[in-house]
Amino acid sequence: MNPSSTEPDGPPSPERTPTAGDGATAALVAALSRGDDPPGGQAVVRFHPLPPVRATAHERGFDVDQTNNSVVVDERVVVKWLTPPPPLPQPAPQMFAHLTSVGFTATALPYAALTGRSAGGAETLVALVTAYLPEAADGWEWCVEEAVAGRTAFAADLGRLAAGLHAAMATPSPAFPEPVRVADGDADGGWAARARDALARALELTCGEDGAWLARHASELAAGLRGLGRAAGTPLIRIHGDLHVGQTLRWREGYAVIDFDGNPTVTGADPFQPAARDLAQLGTSLEHVAQVAILRRGADPARALAWAAEARAVLLTAYREGLAAHGRPELLEESLLGPFEIEQECRELIYAALHLPRWRYAPMGVLRARFPHRTEETA
Ligand code: ADP
Ligand code: MG
Ligand code: MG
Repeated sequence: MNPSSTEPDGPPSPERTPTAGDGATAALVAALSRGDDPPGGQAVVRFHPLPPVRATAHERGFDVDQTNNSVVVDERVVVKWLTPPPPLPQPAPQMFAHLTSVGFTATALPYAALTGRSAGGAETLVALVTAYLPEAADGWEWCVEEAVAGRTAFAADLGRLAAGLHAAMATPSPAFPEPVRVADGDADGGWAARARDALARALELTCGEDGAWLARHASELAAGLRGLGRAAGTPLIRIHGDLHVGQTLRWREGYAVIDFDGNPTVTGADPFQPAARDLAQLGTSLEHVAQVAILRRGADPARALAWAAEARAVLLTAYREGLAAHGRPELLEESLLGPFEIEQECRELIYAALHLPRWRYAPMGVLRARFPHRTEETA
């Protein structure tokens, strides 16, 4: 899922977003690599020095689903032009500053962030500049191959990757001097309300047979969310916020987690959240991969579901071991995992209804597999 619902503050800038082939992105990268200011006059925050790139360097786009407009320059640098530029503050520049200070490297090396102003005068995030990862495929490609082949060893790598990210997010830096907070009673009440709203909205927006199935299972789904009201004392960190397999790249040198834009389907959420929220999303994305393998690749449904269950178990074990190896086992509040998984499926249904109807089969397939038959005939 690669949703976007962030609206700019004020009317969109009259300037056109650069596109691959028009030379504007190479000109920007060349200027940044020389240490010059951006030719477009934007302000720049730098994280790492860029490799030398000429203004005449080759530009190309990506041939995958994406929310924003990313341009690869010289097969070495990626510029993600945010479309439209969202108002500051945005999580990505702060995340880049933090991950750079704490030395987290399992990502595309961040080079710079460009900020500008909307026509309404609000400060906006215009572009993010990072290293290009050669031979990268995202999880909607590489993980579907794993599902089709029935392999699950990769899930241990993903679990360690997520644990490493969360341990890094829990390490103090100048960007986040106090990176860990503790949930008070109000905070966890807020999660419960937010999850109940997501269920209500999913019920309201999902029509036809799927809607009828959801209505029959509404009380079971609501019961699955109840654990969210009992988690005062849970540690909170800045999470990734949109951690699914599509944000994990497998490239020439291993795995990388990218796209720190936060969750575009949840506005106004506290940036401090339980680590379990990211882990729940990553785990359910493996179940979505199984659904993709069934529908698009003709995988046998029973085998694909068994694959997803095993891959998820491997992921969770490696994640727990990873946190323990970093000395941070307390970051995972286990009781939140199940409820956040149900909430995530509701969010996928809302996203499908609003932006991508053909995605509905994936969360519905997951929910039908998790709550089989029981009330089917008695409705
Ligand atoms: P969006 O916010 O538009 O989803 P992402 O940052 O997730 O943008 O990038 C979209 C896709 O572009 C990724 O799924 C991946 O296929 C490709 N991509 C992004 N950054 C890189 C990179 N640094 N190296 C290689 N491929 C990348
Ligand atoms: Mg993305
Ligand atoms: Mg994104």
